[in-house]
Amino acid sequence: MPQYKVAIVGAGPAGYFAALALQNLQTEELQFSIDMIERLPTPWGLVRSGVAPDHPKIKTVAKVFEKVANEQNFRLFANVELGSDLTIEQLKEKYDAVVIATGTALGKKLGIPGEDLPGSMSAATFVPWYNAHPDFKDESIDLNCETAVVIGAGNVAMDVARMLALEPSELDSTDTADHAIDTFKESKVRTVIISARRGPEHAAFTSPELRDLPKLEHTNVVMDKADIEAAIARAGDAPEKDVKSNLDAMLLISEKDATNHERTMKFQFLATPKEIKGNGRVEEVIFQKTGSEETFSVKCGLVITAIGYEAASLEGIPYEKGKVLNTDGRVNENVYVVGWAKRGPSGVIGTNKSDAADVMKLLVEDLGTPKTSGDITDVITHNRVVTQQHWQAINTAEVAAGEPLGKPRRKFVDHQELLNNAGV
Ligand code: NAP
Repeated sequence: MPQYKVAIVGAGPAGYFAALALQNLQTEELQFSIDMIERLPTPWGLVRSGVAPDHPKIKTVAKVFEKVANEQNFRLFANVELGSDLTIEQLKEKYDAVVIATGTALGKKLGIPGEDLPGSMSAATFVPWYNAHPDFKDESIDLNCETAVVIGAGNVAMDVARMLALEPSELDSTDTADHAIDTFKESKVRTVIISARRGPEHAAFTSPELRDLPKLEHTNVVMDKADIEAAIARAGDAPEKDVKSNLDAMLLISEKDATNHERTMKFQFLATPKEIKGNGRVEEVIFQKTGSEETFSVKCGLVITAIGYEAASLEGIPYEKGKVLNTDGRVNENVYVVGWAKRGPSGVIGTNKSDAADVMKLLVEDLGTPKTSGDITDVITHNRVVTQQHWQAINTAEVAAGEPLGKPRRKFVDHQELLNNAGV
């Protein structure tokens, strides 16, 4: 019975869905042993460090990941970094196939003057900071200003704006990092402006997220009805289904009776960011009214860009335009890519399931004679590998620490604290 060894690099949704696809493709004649490699001491990728903590339902997909991980043919090697602990060449040599599932960790840049001023940052920093990603725990996030601007009209922009505009005590029952809850409780931000460069008919929000906004209990959500009506007119009689659904949801928001909460989320459309200005830190953003020469300024002390992501490069893997260069997931030799590293940052978590299944079918087509050249355990020299059992110790400890506080878990944020709780 041929037994093929597959290494999956990256323990996020795409990696787990690739492992699941391989498990589903197994037959009497075709068996896999799957080794998943993860740089952090914790798996689950964006489900742990991306999904907004006030949307816990989205995180229930982690149950699927744990089911995959508890199969006999699966091993987790977390706290292992490709590049420093082992190389892609070693994996290629030892495994029948290597699957890159490392996502897109870098925030795209606007490329406008002032973008690097203190007080301006990417969602790629802000989101993992509030989600207790160990690499971002020491970011200095200054919320000592009345107005924040979030640039971008996608679901990440909406997550970021909501986190800034929620009454912070609403986060007590979530798995938001302790340091972030403390900072949000001290926050002076009362107005959060979500700024889109195009009209509402082109916004990348999805309608379930828009429909949730009027349910916020302690935040005013403001959209200008004239903006939405103009967009409906521009979209014409037969807009695409998603566009219509979005515009319907936006019209409802714009028609809602005004509320008088302390915090406000306000949408601004057709505003192209031109410059971020300030003396030593952010003080205003200069926008151009899209399609005209007219400019205007929004005074603010914080700018967060949520305009998409790019893949961080791995040595030995070809990249182009922020993605791993690939043809339908095939990269080169015995290397494959799945998820956002393959397609770019689009779609919901579930999109990665069918995508990974398609790539794993190609991987199986390409298989030759099983290799007998060992595995990752021949290469790693340190003894701080976090295995599935170690991760389960972290997981159990976090859930137990959260329980008396009414949280789904209280995340450990420090790398060493994670390893201590793993028992490694
Ligand atoms: P996205 O959906 O692609 O949205 C990016 C936004 O940034 C777009 O509105 C885009 O506007 C804007 N943008 C790009 N370049 C810009 C520039 N130079 N200046 C101004 N605006 C610019 O990306 P995302 O929000 O990062 O989300 C990534 C994926 O994750 C999406 O598929 C999203 O639905 C998904 N996600 C889902 C959830 C959820 O289901 N709850 C939560 C978070 C994320 P243009 O259209 O004009 O380019």
